[in-house]
Amino acid sequence: MESPDKNIVITLDGPAASGKSTTARLVAGKLGWLYLDTGAMYRAMAVKVLRRGISLDDTESIGRMAATTQIRLRQSQTGMHVFVDGVDVTDQIRTPEVDRAVGPVCEVPAVRDAMVRLQREIAREGHLVTDGRDMGTVVFPEAELKFYVTASIKNRADRRFQDMKKQGLGVSLEAVQADIEERDARDSQRDHSPLRKAEDAIELDTSGMTVDEQVGLVLRHIDRLIRAEQAK
Ligand code: C5P
Repeated sequence: MESPDKNIVITLDGPAASGKSTTARLVAGKLGWLYLDTGAMYRAMAVKVLRRGISLDDTESIGRMAATTQIRLRQSQTGMHVFVDGVDVTDQIRTPEVDRAVGPVCEVPAVRDAMVRLQREIAREGHLVTDGRDMGTVVFPEAELKFYVTASIKNRADRRFQDMKKQGLGVSLEAVQADIEERDARDSQRDHSPLRKAEDAIELDTSGMTVDEQVGLVLRHIDRLIRAEQAK
C-alpha cells in the first residue's frame, strides 16, 4: 500500500502485556513507518531513578532529574534500543524491579511533560505507529486511527512470564500476574493521563488471536484509512 503525503499517526493503547507493542512494532515494520514504544521511554527513566538511588516517593528529585535527562530511541537490526543520556539501557528495562518502579516514576508530571514533548517531536518525523497508555487520549487525540488492545489477565500474565523466562529471570507465574494486576490498577486509577479507552478507539481483544492475526487486522484498518485518504 502506498503511504499518503501527510503524516499519519496510529495509536495502540491498553493494559500491560496485552500484545500492543508486538503488534505495533510489526505493523510499523511492514509499512516502513516509525515505531514508538512509549513504555520503553518511561522504563528507561525508571532505570535512571533506580541507578541514582532516588527514593520512589521523592517526586521532586525525580522531576528535577527528568528535566536534565535525555531519552532516545533507535531502531537497529537487533530491534528497538533505548538510550538514557547516551547509554543503551535496553537490556535493563524489563526487569521486575523496573516493573515496580515505573508506575511511581511515570506519574511525576515533569516526567510525563518531558516524554510527551519528545513523543510529539518524533511524530513530526514521519508516519508513526505508537503504543502506550495515553497515546490516543492525551498525546495524539487527533490520531487518524486508534486501537484499544486488551486480553484476559491469564493470557497477559502467561505472555509476560514466557518473556521473562526467555530473559533468564527467575519469577513465578503467580508473581507476574500479581505485578500486572497491580500495575493495571495503578495505571487506570492515577489522576494524570490514566489508562482508558478513547471514545473513538477500536477495541481489539487479542486473547484468542495469533500475532499474525493481530497484525493483519490492524493492517486492514490502515489500508482502509489510506484508501479513504487517497480518495479525498
Ligand atoms: O507498556 P509498558 O508495560 O512497557 O509500560 C510500562 C509502564 O509505563 C506502564 O505500566 C505505565 O505505567 C507507563 N506508561 C505510561 N504511559 C505510556 C506508556 C507507558 O504511563 N504512554
